[in-house]
Amino acid sequence: MRIAAVLILLAVVLAGAVLVFLSGATEIKIRPVTAIGLDTPLAAQLANRHGVRGAAAFVEQDGVRHKVFEQEMDGASRFFFWWRNDPPAEVSFRAGKKQAPALKDGKARLIVAARSNDLLARTHEAAIEVQVITRPPSVAADGEQHYINQGGSELVTFTVSGYWTEAGVRVGKYTFRSFPLGSDENRRFSLFAYPWDTPPGTVPVVYARNPAGAEAQARFWHKVFPKNFRRRDLELPDSFLDKVTNEIDAGGSGDRVARFLKINGELRRRNNETLAGLRSKTEPRFLWDGPFVQLSNSKVESQFADIRSYLYQGKKIDEQTHLGFDLSVTANVGVAASNSGKVVLAEYLGIYGNCVVVDHGYGLQSIYAHLSKIEVKPGEAVKKGQTLGRSGATGLAGGDHLHYGVYLHGVAVLPVEWWDGKWIADNITPKLEGRSGQEIAEAQQAAKPKAKGKAKAGKRKR
Ligand SMILES: [Zn+2]
Repeated sequence: MRIAAVLILLAVVLAGAVLVFLSGATEIKIRPVTAIGLDTPLAAQLANRHGVRGAAAFVEQDGVRHKVFEQEMDGASRFFFWWRNDPPAEVSFRAGKKQAPALKDGKARLIVAARSNDLLARTHEAAIEVQVITRPPSVAADGEQHYINQGGSELVTFTVSGYWTEAGVRVGKYTFRSFPLGSDENRRFSLFAYPWDTPPGTVPVVYARNPAGAEAQARFWHKVFPKNFRRRDLELPDSFLDKVTNEIDAGGSGDRVARFLKINGELRRRNNETLAGLRSKTEPRFLWDGPFVQLSNSKVESQFADIRSYLYQGKKIDEQTHLGFDLSVTANVGVAASNSGKVVLAEYLGIYGNCVVVDHGYGLQSIYAHLSKIEVKPGEAVKKGQTLGRSGATGLAGGDHLHYGVYLHGVAVLPVEWWDGKWIADNITPKLEGRSGQEIAEAQQAAKPKAKGKAKAGKRKR
């Protein structure tokens, strides 16, 4: 009798010890976040193979814990927890001033706690440092006049205050980076595009964001000049299709029209993504000086943002926008850098054939395509007028010509503005120097009393 009792007791103690031994810690991973604001979405992963009974989140500031979230998990059997093999659980919650009104701007700790689904039901915690930021940053743009061509470029300066981590210009679906004007990080400028495919009613804004997701925006004085981009038909003879498909899609299968359409559509899109991606390779300084130079003695064959209809045997088979200028001189003519900068791409690039891209700093880049020969290497510094290579007809080109394009933060813009010293002097330089267009106009009028109102009225003819 007594032995049996001892054995039962031993069994119970042993079982209890095993259950305690089987109780494990919950591993908590808070999804990384640097700031919380008014009502910031957050998440954490709770890993315990026996499951989790409950979870809670707190924001701790000045030694006080503010509960922002609590959740009880539905109860599967707690006695047979050791049978379970649960995958990690995800919890989502929101935290900020809305959940804990006592929070104030400054440092805090975000704590997530979870109770294990086992005999001991211990609570484990994880914590990360965060900033509480309830006030959005503020932003104010310059008081200058911004005359903007649809498809063209412009520069705006602005001032940001408060806590922010991202600031720039937004035009419809496009955003453009900004850079500090001088040593003060809060005084900034952005060279931005008003992309050719943006409806002219779209209002550009300067913006600043904080990591809690709050964004401030401000408008600035502007006038957009809509452009009627030209429509052009391009007849595709078999000889052209054969030249292009045999070069770009050597060994490809299918009929010549299908192969051409793949090159003109899918490959064009991929090549344009490569060009746009070069925006991350820009230098934070001005590498260019003075107007950009058009290939000398060249004839303009095709303009920026021409809408091209591709015809085969009289029938339209495709439509694409031409995002550069086609310039022709004679075959194999030396192609010069339109301004000083640094080579960021020098290679064969699909429809662009042998292609060179020069970065001019602060998001501004120029491209030279269809070259027969490339004479520079990536990383090389080039001077305005320096030969980059020879013109040719590589890629999607019927005859020897230079395809020249200007890009601003990865978006193709009107090259003609950058060829125009007066446009640069009116639109870019004075804003960087902190002088208003009005002041410039007055200074010019004072210098030339006869040229009445010319500086302003004559600004946008193109
Ligand atoms: Zn072209």
